[in-house]
Formats: sequence, C-alpha cells, structure tokens
Amino acid sequence: MEKSFVIEVSARHAHLNKEAVDVLFGKNYALTPKKQLSQPGQYVCEERVDIIGSKSKIENVSIIGPQREYVQVEVSQTDARKLGVRAPLRESGDLKLSAGCRLVGPEGELEIENGLIVAKRHIHATVEDAKDFGLKDGEIVWVLTQNSERRLIFGDVVFRVSPNFSLAMHIDTDEANAAGCWQDSRGKIVKI
Ligand SMILES: [Zn+2]
Repeated sequence: MEKSFVIEVSARHAHLNKEAVDVLFGKNYALTPKKQLSQPGQYVCEERVDIIGSKSKIENVSIIGPQREYVQVEVSQTDARKLGVRAPLRESGDLKLSAGCRLVGPEGELEIENGLIVAKRHIHATVEDAKDFGLKDGEIVWVLTQNSERRLIFGDVVFRVSPNFSLAMHIDTDEANAAGCWQDSRGKIVKI
C-alpha cells in the first residue's frame, strides 16, 4: 500500500536575507523564532512585514526563518491579484524575472525587483521516503487528497528530496480552499 502524507497549508509568507532584516527591522536585528514548522530548522518568527503592490497592500505577513541568501515572498494567486502584481508560478529559489513589490517593516522600507512568487505545490521527502515511493528529486506527480471536504487530484506536484526534509506536502491557501483541506488532511500519490 502506498503511504500517505500530511498536506500542510502554506499561508502567505516572506523569507528575508540579512540586508532586508537590517533595512526593515534595524541594523543587525535578530528575528525571534515563535513556532517551529514541520520542516527541520524552519520556524515562523514573531516579526511581521507588510507587502505593497501597485493596487493595494497586505499587512502582517509572516516571516519564516532562518534568514536566507535572498528575499523570497510567497503569496497565493488571490493575494497577487489583490496586490496588483503578476506573480509567476515558481519553485522555491527560482526567482529570475519573478515579480517585485515593496516590503515595509517598523524601521524601514525595501523595494525588491524580484522575489515575489506563487509557489508550486510540492512534496518534501527524505531519501528514505523517496526510496519507498520509487521517486527521484524533481519528479512530477499526481496527488489525490484523502480526507478533504472537496476531494481533488492535484497535478504538477513537484517531488523534492533532501535529507533535511520531513515528509509533507505543501499547498497554498487557494489550493487548500479548492480542496477543502483542513489541518488533518492527507494525500496520496496516484498514477493517472
Ligand atoms: Zn514546502
């Protein structure tokens, strides 16, 4: 029997680098971890930022630590429309020619030329999980939601493998709403 996995919903959030933290929160400011996430070493911070687009702004957006080498802001397509930004659908880290926006923190503002994306849905898996599924890093799979209110089969799910991951699928709030996924939703890889 193929094993199932938890489906976690990623709400809009920002990953910041040192330069961004310096500008938004003050020189050498250290972000405060608030809650650990399922992926080892990743956490939600106490601090928040506002995102401003050409049409409107979204306030109090979560920051996910630790700091990265680059700024990456992940929103849903609904958020992007509200902001007035054409955000491309991308895998994390693939930010070339992605959208720009303005970030506002308590100590300053930062204009980013790119870094704003809608994240492609994906599964985080360890090397052992990958063996169990018979899949390699970067493969594209179909996932059937198991116990959501409006069961869906998601296509174009990127299977990502790293020893630093813990098995979980990540979808955004638009996808979660479409499938009626709540906290205990699970998914299963299917062949079509
Ligand atoms: Zn993820």
